[in-house]
Amino acid sequence: MKTIFGPINSRRFGSSLGIDLSPALKQCNFDCLYCELAPAVTVDAQENVVSVEQIINELKGHLDEKIDVITITANGEPTLYPHLDELIDAINQIKNNTQTLILTNSAMLVDERVFNALLKLDQVKLSLDAISNDIFNKIDRPHKDIRVEEVVKKVQEFSKIFTGKLFIEILFVHGLNDTKEEIAKLNHALLGINATRIDLGTIDRPPAYNVAGISYKELHEAALLFDRELPIHIASRIHAEPNYAKYNEEEILNTLDKRPLTMDDIDILFDKPSKERLKNLIKEQKIIKKRVGNLEFLLPATNARRKRTK
Ligand code: SF4
Repeated sequence: MKTIFGPINSRRFGSSLGIDLSPALKQCNFDCLYCELAPAVTVDAQENVVSVEQIINELKGHLDEKIDVITITANGEPTLYPHLDELIDAINQIKNNTQTLILTNSAMLVDERVFNALLKLDQVKLSLDAISNDIFNKIDRPHKDIRVEEVVKKVQEFSKIFTGKLFIEILFVHGLNDTKEEIAKLNHALLGINATRIDLGTIDRPPAYNVAGISYKELHEAALLFDRELPIHIASRIHAEPNYAKYNEEEILNTLDKRPLTMDDIDILFDKPSKERLKNLIKEQKIIKKRVGNLEFLLPATNARRKRTK
């Protein structure tokens, strides 16, 4: 299976070429309520492992595209990939001026090898949804040995020595981490983290479980509860720049499988012929529409049919 997808126009990171370190199945040490992927049993190691050679060979074929950032991600948690350090070294040798980024749930920072490997990237996005044990366990549903207090300590330590751009992401789930008490705890922890930007977001894509996000107004009110010195940002869709790239049918299905998109996203991402291909896929019911709040997402029919594995 292919490991490279996109480029997609990321709301926050620009034109991003994705590397999926778990293309065949979801492998994650969390089972977040808000996950865009179907729920799955948590794991603490990958069983299905792609070779570094395969990833680098695929990546070489895409490096002449117009991209701002090579994003290491996964159908699950990318830091569970056992050859991460070797892979980052290999990417750094061929990437030229393109930035590198990883999107991680932070839990594997407690592993020294992962901690040190991430230091070699240009940008790191760490998620931190809650500080209280019970709220963290409810939202992120981590693998049994993960302790939030250890993770927070490592995030703080990492931020002090990382020389690249560090983004922290907090995703608010209605009725769980959106209380004044939890926001005060998050604020306290964030004051010990040197972050380039702290993105506050909420559920805006079809979630794994039946949970709701908070409104833009509530997000704004939450943002006001954090210390003014913190670089708080409300993650929003309005800054995306047009890309107009060509996608064949397989690339459309692959891209939407990784990340359901709205028609507004498609408008700025796809060129005209690619939009026609997408229309045909919708007609053939290979792509379906799913509504979340006031946004309608496109995703492959096969993705919507995926069943829980526990
Ligand atoms: S949101 Fe990320 S960390 Fe959470 S279950 Fe999904 S893939 Fe894992």
